[in-house]
Amino acid sequence: MKTMHALVLHRVGDVRFESIPCPEPGPGQVRVRVGYCGVCGSDIPRLFEKGTYRFPLVCGHEFAGTVDLCGPDVAGFEKGQIVAVFPLIWCGHCPACERGHYAQCLNYSYLGSRENGAFAEYVVAPARNLLPVPEGVSLEEAAMTEPAAVALHALRRTGRNLTGLTVAVFGCGPIGLLAALWARLGGAVKILLFDVAEEKLALARSLGFSMAFSAEEEDPVSCIERETRSQGADVCIEAAGVPATLIQACSACGRGGQVVLLGNPSADVVLPAPLLSQMMRREVTVVGTWNSEYGVYTTSDDWHTTLSAMAAGQFNVQPLISHKVPLVQAVEMLQAMRQRQVPFVKVLISP
Ligand SMILES: [Zn+2]
Ligand SMILES: [Zn+2]
Repeated sequence: MKTMHALVLHRVGDVRFESIPCPEPGPGQVRVRVGYCGVCGSDIPRLFEKGTYRFPLVCGHEFAGTVDLCGPDVAGFEKGQIVAVFPLIWCGHCPACERGHYAQCLNYSYLGSRENGAFAEYVVAPARNLLPVPEGVSLEEAAMTEPAAVALHALRRTGRNLTGLTVAVFGCGPIGLLAALWARLGGAVKILLFDVAEEKLALARSLGFSMAFSAEEEDPVSCIERETRSQGADVCIEAAGVPATLIQACSACGRGGQVVLLGNPSADVVLPAPLLSQMMRREVTVVGTWNSEYGVYTTSDDWHTTLSAMAAGQFNVQPLISHKVPLVQAVEMLQAMRQRQVPFVKVLISP
């Protein structure tokens, strides 16, 4: 039997570099040779604290690779072709799937949390989850499609054309930075970013965001008040998942504005009554965002839009890739990330 290398999670905190059988594509499936797989913010707690839906399991859901082998009944792909892969496997029958909202599927599976993902040499996925990567987009950039699509989706959830608007982003991790890049591409005139980590702010500035502020040195709410002449931000993106930043986002949101819940929540949040009252007066909308829109019958979905923008040179994710680590050294890297021993932005693992 053909084997491959993979990072196998046996139980919480027990992740090993091992040889396991290479997956065979069934009907309608394609085996993809993984080029790069990004480490998501959610992977660290998944590996070391919360665990996953079953063990043993191979994690990793932000990836791109090349077509290796097509299963029976699969047409339209060639061996060696570069593809990005939507990691959510939708059922195709539930009301959400029938409307094409695959991320809202009621009976979904997920590569990297419910079934084997891409911290491995190979992964098997349904052919309909594969998106050919256009010319001019490298394998490592293509591996950034998932987080970039998630960030785009968060901005689209506001339902607004961003031209001329002020956008505030709380949290300069990869998703926060990607959201800021989309806001700029969408025509936002003023983009304010906040974080507590100086190296993340430095990266934000190097991406051309001159208004990147330390939330430790200055209260973000008064900063936004000053920069908007007390009008508040039109759109506030909460991308840290921390109670304090959600309260800041709600406090700094202007009249008719939107607060987007993007960061994974880390604790309960108490909204003081005066703040709620202020949000009511200002008619602030709080919107949730989840995953991204992937389209089979459209090209305006988040995934196609992301890859087209990358191919057109409008959306450069390269500066966000801080590390490229071979699979054999990945366990060490993941542990270092968990213990925050290294400053990192997006870490890509390559077999
Ligand atoms: Zn993710
Ligand atoms: Zn479904």
